[in-house]
Amino acid sequence: MKNNKITSRADNFAKWYTDVVKSAQLAEYSSVKGCVILEPNGYAIWENMQKNMDKLFKDCGHSNVYLPVFIPESLLQKEGELVSGFAPEVAWITRGGSSVLEERLAFRPTSESLFCDYYKNKVKSYRDLPKLYNQWCSVVRWEKETRPFLRSREFLWQEGHTAHATAKEAQEETQRMLDVYKEFHERFLAIPVITGRKTEKEKFAGAEYTLTIETLMQNGICLQSGTSHYFGQKFAKAYDVKFLNEKNELDYVYQTSWGTTTRMIGAVIMVHGDDAGLVLPPRIAPKQVVIIGIGNVSEKVNEVYNTLKENNISVYIDDSDKTPGFKFAEAEVNGIPVRIEIGERDLAKNIITLVRRDTREKIEINVNENIAEVVEKLLETIHDDMFNRAKERMENRIYEARTLEEVNNIIENTPGFIKADWCGKEECELKYKEIHGIKSRCILENEKPLEGVCPVCGEKADKLVMWGIQY
Ligand SMILES: [Zn+2]
Repeated sequence: MKNNKITSRADNFAKWYTDVVKSAQLAEYSSVKGCVILEPNGYAIWENMQKNMDKLFKDCGHSNVYLPVFIPESLLQKEGELVSGFAPEVAWITRGGSSVLEERLAFRPTSESLFCDYYKNKVKSYRDLPKLYNQWCSVVRWEKETRPFLRSREFLWQEGHTAHATAKEAQEETQRMLDVYKEFHERFLAIPVITGRKTEKEKFAGAEYTLTIETLMQNGICLQSGTSHYFGQKFAKAYDVKFLNEKNELDYVYQTSWGTTTRMIGAVIMVHGDDAGLVLPPRIAPKQVVIIGIGNVSEKVNEVYNTLKENNISVYIDDSDKTPGFKFAEAEVNGIPVRIEIGERDLAKNIITLVRRDTREKIEINVNENIAEVVEKLLETIHDDMFNRAKERMENRIYEARTLEEVNNIIENTPGFIKADWCGKEECELKYKEIHGIKSRCILENEKPLEGVCPVCGEKADKLVMWGIQY
C-alpha cells in the first residue's frame, strides 16, 4: 500500500524524509526561522528516548542538574579553542528589557564553561570527585541550513559533564559513555553503529580527543549520532578547577563531556522508514499497538485493550468514525509497530488478526490465545528483525577503497561507509572533500590499514579511516 502524500524513497529521498516528518505529524515548521515545533507524536518519541537513556545514565551513577541558558561572554571566552570552534554559531543577547547589557550573554551552544564554573566552587579535594552530571536541555547554534531533527537553530539534547581525579578514570568514562550510546542505539532504536575516534580536524573544539558513533541512513548518507569527548586538563586549566589530590598536592581535574540530540529521531526515520511512512522500533514507540474494530465488536476490542494495558503494553483504540482502510493507513504512516484488527466476521470464526508494521505480515491468532504474551513476543521479534535488517544493510554498504578513483566510483554508484588508509595529514583528509563533500567519519581504532599506503599522497599510512558523506 503506497501513501499518496509521501514521495517514494527512490524518487527523492530528501522529499520522502520531509513528507514522513509532516505526514506522521512529528514536527512542523514555525514562524521562527531555523526552528521547528516538535508536535505531540515527535515529542513523545523524544520523551521515550529520554526516559530510557536517562535510566542508563543513572545506572552508571550520573545525576541530572540544570544550569543557566545564558553564558556571560567573559566566561565563554576562557577556553580559546572552544570559542573559535563555536564563534560562527553563537547567538548573543545584547539587551535586557530597555537597557543595553554591560556584558553580552551567549545562548548556550554547549555548557562546558558553565560546568567548569560550577566545579570551581564545588571541587576542593579528591573526596569531592568524581562529579558525574548530565543535563537535559536545549542549545542554540546559529546554523545557516536547517532541517527537522537533523539541524536546527535550537535543538533538544542531553549533555553529560564529568570531572575526575585521574586521566585514566576520565578516559574510562569517555569510553564508557560511548558504549552506553552504542547500547542505546542497538537495544532501543534498533540501529547498528560504527564506533571510532574523530580526526584532529573533526574532533570537538577544545577536546584532547572525541569518540563517536556513526550510523548509516538508507540512502547511504552517514549521520554522526553521538559523541564523547576527553578533555584532559585543558578546560580545568582554562577555568582554574583545582583540587587537592591524595598526596595533598594541588592538581587540575580531568574532564569529559558527551552528547546526543533529537537527531536520533531523524536517524530512526531514515534507517527504518519506508514508502508508507514511519516505522518505529517497538521500545521507543509511544504507542506500540493500535486496535481497530470492524463492525459490532466493541466488547472484544475493550477486552483486548484492557488485557494489553494490564501487561504494560502501550496501546490505544482507534474508534474514530473514519473508515477501517483510512485507519490502517494512518497507523502505517505513524509507524505503530503492531496493528490489531478485530472484525465481526473473523470473530465469528474465533480469529483476530495482528499486522506487523515493519514487514506488513498478517498473523491470525485464535481469540483464546494469550494475546498479551503473543504481542509481547511479537514486539521483541520486530525489534530484533529491524535491527538485523539495518545491520545487514549497513554491512553491505561498507566498502574498501585503495585509490581516490575507487572512492569516487563507490560514492557515485552506491554511497555508504568507505574504509581507506590515511597517513594522518590534514591536507590528504581535505582532498576527500572534493569528492561529493566526503569527510572522515572516524579512525577505526582496532583495525589495521588495508595496504599501509595513503591513497592521496602515496606515503606510509598507519591509520584506517571510515569516510562518507554526512548530514
Ligand atoms: Zn596522505
